Amino acid sequence: MAQHDFAYRSSGSYLNVGRRDDAPYGLAGLTFDGAVTNRPGARFGPQAIRLASQMLCDATHPHFDTTPLDLLSDAGDLALPNTGIEAMRAALMPQAAELLRRHHMVWLGGDHSVTLPLLRALNQLHGGPVAMVHFDAHCDTWTSHFGEPSGHGTWVYEAMQEGLLLPRASVQIGIRSSGERAAREYVNEMGGRVYTARELRGLESPAQLAPVLGEIRARMAAAGNPPLYLTLDIDCLDPAFAPGTGTPEPGGLSSNQVLSIIEELADLNWCGMDCVEVAPPYDHAELTSNAASTFVWTYLCGQIAKRGRQSATAA
Ligand code: MN
Ligand code: MN
Repeated sequence: MAQHDFAYRSSGSYLNVGRRDDAPYGLAGLTFDGAVTNRPGARFGPQAIRLASQMLCDATHPHFDTTPLDLLSDAGDLALPNTGIEAMRAALMPQAAELLRRHHMVWLGGDHSVTLPLLRALNQLHGGPVAMVHFDAHCDTWTSHFGEPSGHGTWVYEAMQEGLLLPRASVQIGIRSSGERAAREYVNEMGGRVYTARELRGLESPAQLAPVLGEIRARMAAAGNPPLYLTLDIDCLDPAFAPGTGTPEPGGLSSNQVLSIIEELADLNWCGMDCVEVAPPYDHAELTSNAASTFVWTYLCGQIAKRGRQSATAA
């Protein structure tokens, strides 16, 4: 295992919680950034997101009026090699499977190449493909990583080809980077839905976003509300909100747009989340890690609020 020792482990934990194997919700860091195409640094993401989370510990969420403090376990950063994508994925799979048996998981990246093995593990857990909401500036549907088969921009294509995703229940939000039409339109062509950042300009409040939210709900309902995975590439945000990332793309989403969507769709059948591509070396005033930390917190509080409503109904 010596070659699987990795250099950077964060100290502390998300929201200052420790590791608790019986907690319903879990969190783990994936400190791999060996598959980026531009600026590296996302291996430091989990550490920065955890540090930013400390501000969120002192009271309840203002919208969901709950807190994950007693229900969350932080498993720390998983032991992953930073030397190669296949070695990373091979090391990640069994660790992810074990955590998924215990908890509803949130994963902190790391670059976006971590999502493919997470989808494989989720498919094994749920016995089939899952639905997806994917926030990103990039479509991540390229068929090659500059000549290599896999990178942080190929995982959606690979996941579709492997049958890990339900195509009609796959939604992308915030897409805007340069890219050939075949890649940009891939998820639409498969029967899913791509919301470009341009299409969402000026739509920020729940009322303004109502048609978008309604269409996403309708897609999930038409698929029978299968387990739904949230993958949030922080570069979906405009660089004004998230400068600390490897491939920033101007003209992006606002923090409020992302929060409105996460909050309003909290009652869907979510089965987990990742937040990837936070690269602290390019951040300013911890803007990016604060945004990431708040999105994760909001997702968790939304799930806990839903869980509270369900147990109240059952009782
Ligand atoms: Mn991405
Ligand atoms: Mn991206």
